[in-house]
Amino acid sequence: MNKIVLKNVSKSYQNIVAVNHVNLSIKANEFVVLTGPSGCGKTTLLRLIAGLEELDEGEILIDNQSAARLKPHQRNLSMVFQDSTLYPHLTVFNNIALSLKLERLNKILIEQRVRKIAALLGLNDLLKRKPNALSGGQRQRVAIACALIKKPSIILFDEPVSSLDIPARKEILKIIEHIKKEIKVTYLYVTHDVSEAKTLADRVIYMENGKII
Ligand code: ADP
Ligand code: MG
Repeated sequence: MNKIVLKNVSKSYQNIVAVNHVNLSIKANEFVVLTGPSGCGKTTLLRLIAGLEELDEGEILIDNQSAARLKPHQRNLSMVFQDSTLYPHLTVFNNIALSLKLERLNKILIEQRVRKIAALLGLNDLLKRKPNALSGGQRQRVAIACALIKKPSIILFDEPVSSLDIPARKEILKIIEHIKKEIKVTYLYVTHDVSEAKTLADRVIYMENGKII
């Protein structure tokens, strides 16, 4: 089954064509790596799928339904960015738990779910810390935990290790490889560095000048 389908999707900013008539189908539970040089339209493509940008032309289907009327929070997807946005005044536990608290989930259930995700990401010893007491790699692990806790059916990664030093990069990539095995959802992973994601990918898609090559 196709999870995400892009039909003839285009997006321009003033006179810059960021995404140019893109057709793409991603299967349920597939791990797709989208790569290509800086400025080729990768982030724009992710933001269109996430509903953070409106398309000029074409159509996006999620679970065979037009995404046009779905607001970002109705798309059942999570996004992990290059520079994670954690709340500085909240502990790691409360950062991860926040979206569940906003849904007014039962306290015991929240505790169980946070501990399960924290274990998956090796964060159990860091739950009481505030973000400013974490390394870049640890912060990015928390950001991934925040994305997973909502149990999305699609996870979008936008260059999640690009700001990290090499050891932290390796550590996060290993964790994502582990997550891929444990959590069966649809993954779209953006990077400008193909070698980085080769081991993760079921399929690599190469973009140039807004088009899929
Ligand atoms: P990538 O993620 O592959 O580096 P982007 O999708 O960020 O590429 O950008 C594609 C093109 O669109 C680039 O030329 C970029 O400068 C332009 N662009 C992206 N976002 C905006 C914006 N908000 N306003 C104007 N131009 C933009
Ligand atoms: Mg980008």
